[in-house]
Amino acid sequence: MKNTQNKGNIIVVSAPSGAGKTSICDATVKKCANAVYSISYTTRKPRIGETDGNEYFFTDDVSFKKMVKAGKFAEWAKVHGHYYGTPKSFLEKTLNAGKNVILDIDVQGGLKIKKHYPQACMIFVMTPDLKTLEKRLTGRNKDSKETIAIRMQNAKKELKYLSKYNYLVINDNLQDAIFSVNVIIESLKYKIQKDKKYF
Ligand code: 5GP
Repeated sequence: MKNTQNKGNIIVVSAPSGAGKTSICDATVKKCANAVYSISYTTRKPRIGETDGNEYFFTDDVSFKKMVKAGKFAEWAKVHGHYYGTPKSFLEKTLNAGKNVILDIDVQGGLKIKKHYPQACMIFVMTPDLKTLEKRLTGRNKDSKETIAIRMQNAKKELKYLSKYNYLVINDNLQDAIFSVNVIIESLKYKIQKDKKYF
């Protein structure tokens, strides 16, 4: 068999707010030697403890729109009133180096990635049911009742696109959910790549 380098995989992880997607993605990147996070650009302000180039590249509307015009994003979307975009050059460079790239992005962005990169591995994370999601959002003590109501409405909208994803991971227990995502990523090693010459 020829020893041509495998290209990396795009792994899209989307979830309604409060389902635990970020904890799962953080743990996955730490566990999988071959997986890296894609750091997005955003126009939202940094939260306490966030630093530029770590969680996000923080930018303003004008610069973001310039980047959109210049084709710098593999996808971008407006989420909760702010712009977010996945830098294209990092994505392509990292895939070509054979690494798996994890995109922690919303459903709108996920669908755009799937359109441009149909081979992307699409994972949807959800709590066992909507009631549990509401309990988690309330338990975080981070958001007002109104914000929680908006997030619940958004969750119902996002769930309508579940069939566009390849995998559903139920986050009932965080360690189990992390394990499931790792199993999915491991299985990608055995996926036949359409553009690779094997024999
Ligand atoms: P937060 O501001 O709370 O970190 O993220 C808000 C939402 O934006 C989350 O659902 C997150 O996954 C999503 N998001 C983060 N980066 C991107 C991106 O580059 N593109 C898209 N479409 N969504 C993103």
